[in-house]
Amino acid sequence: MQNLTESQLQEIAESRSARSSTRRATSEGLEALMFEPAPVLDKGFVRVVDYMGDDAAVVQGARVSYGRGTRAVQSDRGLIRYLMRHRHTTPFELCELKLHVRAPIFVTRQWFRHRTASINEYSARYSVLEREFYVPDAGSVAAQSASNRQGRGETMAPAEATRVVEMLRDDAARCYDNYLWMLNEGEDGQARDETRQGVARELARINLPVGIYTQFYWKVNLWNLLRFLSLRADPHAQAEIRAFAEVIAAMVKAWVPDVHQAFSDYVMNATTLSGQATALLRAALAAPGPVDPASFGLSGRELRELVETVPELEGRILVGTRS
Ligand SMILES: Cc1cc2nc3c(=O)[nH]c(=O)nc-3n(C[C@H](O)[C@H](O)[C@H](O)COP(=O)(O)OP(=O)(O)OC[C@H]3O[C@@H](n4cnc5c(N)ncnc54)[C@H](O)[C@@H]3O)c2cc1C
Repeated sequence: MQNLTESQLQEIAESRSARSSTRRATSEGLEALMFEPAPVLDKGFVRVVDYMGDDAAVVQGARVSYGRGTRAVQSDRGLIRYLMRHRHTTPFELCELKLHVRAPIFVTRQWFRHRTASINEYSARYSVLEREFYVPDAGSVAAQSASNRQGRGETMAPAEATRVVEMLRDDAARCYDNYLWMLNEGEDGQARDETRQGVARELARINLPVGIYTQFYWKVNLWNLLRFLSLRADPHAQAEIRAFAEVIAAMVKAWVPDVHQAFSDYVMNATTLSGQATALLRAALAAPGPVDPASFGLSGRELRELVETVPELEGRILVGTRS
């Protein structure tokens, strides 16, 4: 299981078997997942270590109610959907999730751009990092995208992809060997050479590549978590952080199923249309024949994106007049 030691597995098992009584709201779906590491990438994981609130807490907060809620489930669900649809954010902020994550440093660089969360990360000044590096499968090694400067294109030929994987693995191993040499430590944490003192950890770590795994605790409110998911579970996000976001989205679904459904409907699977795109769409629906898009003021890229979203527009727009 994701390279966890016996004692780490033991701690998780103890946490999972402990029970405490509470008057607070609990979520059955999330209780079932508590503390269990959900594997992500080759050696990463996400696990829930704590949470506050549930679907009813969003409703309770919105109504500023005295109890757990008095309305029927149907009207509670309707209120959650209304709040999501109209971006009435604060009732969602009343729920919180705390996660323990093991992810490569290049993933955390993207993750920590989301400023509206509380983080505590493993200190590589204080402790020695483990020999854990992310190495992609040869099958997911892809070329630079020709159309998107921030993305991947075609998968590479197997021989070249295998070479890339070998380079990543070998270079990481060499850097880590030199890291241990600088620290004057063996894999067992014991000094290798009694006559040397070893370089400070805060200096030796600068030799390590960004594929090395780090760990952190991440506490975030539900609204900002949904914002994170909307950006990082999106196809435009890098595949590696997307893998984490998708696992967290499944946890959110187990925790607050009504909020998750509203989020899927009104954010993840929704489309925002600009004023120009709306005008063109209306004109195309009303006109008996194809409409000339040139006068609507959309850029070529906007027009392509609109047709990707509404492919039915293809026959209703004059071809060759797109800018
Ligand atoms: C596909 C993709 C590509 C990206 N590429 C780049 C890139 O090339 N370079 C780069 O630097 N970043 C890049 N980013 C990061 C991006 O610009 C955001 O910094 C990141 O997604 C965090 O989003 P956020 O600010 O909404 O989240 P949070 O920091 O969690 O903030 C949530 C919301 O709180 C509010 N907020 C938070 N802090 C402030 C503040 N100081 N002032 C005002 N309002 C605030 C805003 O409304 C914000 O939307 C990329 C992100 C994605 C998803």
